[in-house]
Amino acid sequence: MYTQCPDCEIAFKVTADVLKQAAGKVRCGSCGNAFNALLYLTEQMPKQPTPETVGADLPELRPEITNDDDGFTSTIIVPEKGVEEKTLEDSGDESQSTDESDNNRAGIIAGVVALVLILIVQFMHQSREALATIPAFSNTVGQIYRVLGRPVQPSWDITGWRFEVTKGNIEDEEALTVYSRLGNNSDGPLPYPLISISLTDRFKEPIGSQILDPNEYLPTNLDPRKLVKPGNTFNAVITIKLATEDATGFKLNVCYRLSDRRLRCAIDDFK
Ligand SMILES: [Zn+2]
Repeated sequence: MYTQCPDCEIAFKVTADVLKQAAGKVRCGSCGNAFNALLYLTEQMPKQPTPETVGADLPELRPEITNDDDGFTSTIIVPEKGVEEKTLEDSGDESQSTDESDNNRAGIIAGVVALVLILIVQFMHQSREALATIPAFSNTVGQIYRVLGRPVQPSWDITGWRFEVTKGNIEDEEALTVYSRLGNNSDGPLPYPLISISLTDRFKEPIGSQILDPNEYLPTNLDPRKLVKPGNTFNAVITIKLATEDATGFKLNVCYRLSDRRLRCAIDDFK
C-alpha cells in the first residue's frame, strides 16, 4: 500500500499498523504537512512529479505519536529515503573535507616547525664558536659536536687578557724564567689562555718562539681547566732553555685555539 502527501505529492509505502496508529493521520516527513493517509491510499505506487528522486524502494512510515499545537495526534513520516541518504552523504562529505583541511593545516604547521628548527640548527652551527663560550650551550649542544668528533673551540675573547706585571730573569745564560701576572679584563669568565713567548735578539728581532699550555705555566695548585672570573688575575711562570746566547729579550702574547687548529692571539702580528 502507498499513500501520497497531498501537498508535496511525495509517495510513501504504508502499512496497516501505521494506518491504525492515529486513525490514519500522519505528517509528511518531507514537507511537514499533516494529512490523512487513508484518504490517499493506493495499491499501486502513485505517480509523482519527481519519480527519479523516490525510486523503487520507498521508505516505510514509522509512526511516532506526538502532541502538536493543532491537537492533531499525528504520525510523523520518516522522510523519503533518498533525501535522508543524500543528507548523510552531505554530512559525510563535510566531515571528510574538514578532516582534509585539518590535515592540511597540521601539515603546514609541521612544515613551519621543521623550517624553524632547521634555521635554529643552522644558526647554532654557524655561531657555535661564540655560543660555546656559554656553559649551557657547551654542556648540551657542545656534547653533540664532541660525540661527532668535531669539538667546538669556543671563540673566547682573547683581547680580554691584560699583562699586568712581567719580569724576566736569565739564569746562568742557559734558561730564561719569566714571571707574569695576567688579568681578565673582559665582561665574562675566560679559560686560561695559551701563552706564546718569543725570544728576541739585541735588534729586537724574534729568533725563536714557544707556545705553552696552561698546565705548563700555572702553579700546580691551580686547575688549568677552570675559568678565570672577570676581574681576577693569575700568575704564570715560564721557564725556557736558551739554545743561543743571542737572546737578549722576549715578548709575550696570549692565544686561543680555533676549531681548525689555528690560533687567535691578542696581538695578531706577533712573531
Ligand atoms: Zn508532503
